Amino acid sequence: MTTEPQFSLAGKRVWVAGHRGMVGAAIVRRLASEGCDLVFADRSTVDLRRQADVEAWMRSNKPDVVFLAAAKVGGILANDRFPAQFLYDNLMIEANIIQAAHETGVQKLLFLGSSCIYPKFAEQPIVEEALLTGALEPTNEWYAIAKIAGIKLAQSYRRQYGCDFISAMPTNLYGPGDNFDLQSSHVLPALLRKAHEAKISGADTLTVWGSGTPYREFLHVDDCADACVHLMQTYSDDSHVNVGSGTDLTIRSLAEAVVEVVGFAGDLVFDTTKPDGTPRKLMSGAKLRSLGWRPNIELLDGLKQTYGWYLDNVVATTSKT
Ligand code: GDP
Repeated sequence: MTTEPQFSLAGKRVWVAGHRGMVGAAIVRRLASEGCDLVFADRSTVDLRRQADVEAWMRSNKPDVVFLAAAKVGGILANDRFPAQFLYDNLMIEANIIQAAHETGVQKLLFLGSSCIYPKFAEQPIVEEALLTGALEPTNEWYAIAKIAGIKLAQSYRRQYGCDFISAMPTNLYGPGDNFDLQSSHVLPALLRKAHEAKISGADTLTVWGSGTPYREFLHVDDCADACVHLMQTYSDDSHVNVGSGTDLTIRSLAEAVVEVVGFAGDLVFDTTKPDGTPRKLMSGAKLRSLGWRPNIELLDGLKQTYGWYLDNVVATTSKT
């Protein structure tokens, strides 16, 4: 299988849907060196949940290429608390964009999903073929069902209309631009913030949700963006492709690494009234490796860089107001 770029982005009009989100912004940064013409939909004028808005915007802006990174996202608690929004918003956004991409003749589209699409007790590491072979993890099934529908949309438009639409399933992502709100964030930014605030306030303990025993795989968002561009340039097929780092660790080990990076010297306390979620979801990266891609950013380096981003962009700005 060749890994040379087959689909060049140079000179193309490229729409990154969701460009203000963590993943979309990373794709925009990554595309800066590809010589393409980036176009963006403004949130105040285009509601991606409305078909008429999406169709009108795409007809007037005519993108050749779409990175579909727009989504309603959140951590384990947000998923559980806002099931209707996680299901409805994500179904509408992906269905509207994929249908409009077909109608307006988009040359290539990459849909971004998530590793939570896989069955709760899938065999590890999880291969792409494990999709729909078992029941989902209940804490995020709303989001997962929407993302499975997105994969199927991309596949069905390829089969019925011959559209070159592909899907990538990233593992748990982190990095600059992440959400640090403790109620709605994912674990990694939450722990960075908690460790920072505990250090500043001189607290004795830091509370970690759940038992600390679940395993999670983390990938820096810049690695994810690089993989997405690689797939856009080299991959054209029916099956979705896993995008991961290839290694996982327990939430306890992650918390220990975070407090080390932040410099918090107190103890970890585990709040077992909070959900653990799925016990493990390490994805197999074999398919993406066979396409010639590997991650670059080690977790410890990524943690240090993300903590720096948090200090400069969240702590610094909130302390000014
Ligand atoms: P998930 O991968 O979909 O389960 O999403 P999360 O990133 O929200 O949670 C991953 C794991 O980290 C779960 O077992 C959580 O209980 C655990 N966790 C520990 N502390 C926190 C925290 O402060 N926030 C979040 N979101 N999760 C936490």
